[in-house]
Amino acid sequence: MKIRAQIGKVLNLDKCIGCHTCSVTCKNVWTSREGAEYMWFNNVETKPGVGYPKEWENQDRWKGGWVRRDDGDITPRQGGKWRLLAKIFANPHLPEIDDYYEPFNFDYQRLQNAPASKAQPTAKPYSAITGAPMDKIEWGPNWEEILGGEFAKRKRDYNFANIQTEIYGQFEHTFMMYLPRLCEHCLNPSCVASCPSGAIYKRAEDGIVLIDQDRCRGWRMCISGCPYKKIYYNWQSGKSEKCIFCYPRIEAGEPTVCSETCVGRIRYLGVMLYDADRIKEAASVANEADLYEAQMDIFLDPHDPEVQAQARADGVPDNWLEAAKRSPVWKMAKEWRVAFPLHPEYRTLPMVWYVPPLSPVQAAADAGNIAADGEIPDVASLKIPVKYLANLLTAGEEEPIINGLRRLLAMRRYRRSLTVGDTPNEAVL
Ligand code: SF4
Ligand code: SF4
Repeated sequence: MKIRAQIGKVLNLDKCIGCHTCSVTCKNVWTSREGAEYMWFNNVETKPGVGYPKEWENQDRWKGGWVRRDDGDITPRQGGKWRLLAKIFANPHLPEIDDYYEPFNFDYQRLQNAPASKAQPTAKPYSAITGAPMDKIEWGPNWEEILGGEFAKRKRDYNFANIQTEIYGQFEHTFMMYLPRLCEHCLNPSCVASCPSGAIYKRAEDGIVLIDQDRCRGWRMCISGCPYKKIYYNWQSGKSEKCIFCYPRIEAGEPTVCSETCVGRIRYLGVMLYDADRIKEAASVANEADLYEAQMDIFLDPHDPEVQAQARADGVPDNWLEAAKRSPVWKMAKEWRVAFPLHPEYRTLPMVWYVPPLSPVQAAADAGNIAADGEIPDVASLKIPVKYLANLLTAGEEEPIINGLRRLLAMRRYRRSLTVGDTPNEAVL
């Protein structure tokens, strides 16, 4: 057994209001510069939906690896053997700018100089790349939600009842949530494995995954190799870039920018101890149904004296051991099992965990679908698509999700008993 410490994060989706403050503050600090316009180290996408970049979850589309090409149609920045190699081989499975979105600015002058009209003028968007007006934006990471809003408006204005059944099914029964996404700082990072230059590395002391800008040669294998599509190519520098988990702030004892500025206060940072010798075994479990449990197994109880002694012997500093004992990530992901990894079937062992949303539950309780003792006779009555959440968070296994939702519900009832006087039932606590 070889014990290492890793910093991780839990995001409570029940509290995310989709305000994008995290994305904007991250952008202001890290990617507000030439070559990085389209990059969002942190983005918030509407789910179910195509996401950012478009269809990032479609792993059939993004295959990593080298493909021989004959047309030589490439202009590598490096000379010598790198130029020769790049002429012969290319990586054809990269998202293009249209798969991210075309960065745009607003013409604020229009607010002053637009001709008089009945309605107030709006600041029109224009392409930050071509300068052309962008009157018609046809998709985006939050497009499905915009469609839903448009539909609700039309229904209200025109009582256009048929759209409901013909296009969107039953609007009242639709489900949506926000999914904030960043690099997962995986325990088994495929970006590291896919880099031909050995430029990507995982820091031994805290597990943060970084790209050495001096060694990166712009091959972009990491972009196709990362199943979460969380590495971006800077067209100005010719290098790849990614979320750095705000490591200068972490080293100074500060939280990441997205955590500090999160309006919903949904982000929890914490340390996890894990057995590094078992990563390969956990990542290569044959049966997908066993993946979530196998990955959870490698995390170790920081309160166990034997674990503490071994971790110390393996070089984990005392302050990190103390942090592991207090870690909300440990509590929510492993002890309470209410936070889950994103797509564990990608086998990279991601370290950003998600508490599934419980928002429609109060409505279900009001409708009598939750028993007085807090038991849920039929999870389907919560209007939460358990299968969808399981496909997102537990490689399709529904039981951990259902148990997690029950625990969250019990916790909510308990808290309500303290604040508004509801009676909790001990049996469900
Ligand atoms: Fe690498 Fe992607 Fe994992 Fe981040 S999410 S560590 S970029 S494989
Ligand atoms: Fe969600 Fe917080 Fe980001 Fe707002 S700042 S979108 S609440 S994660």
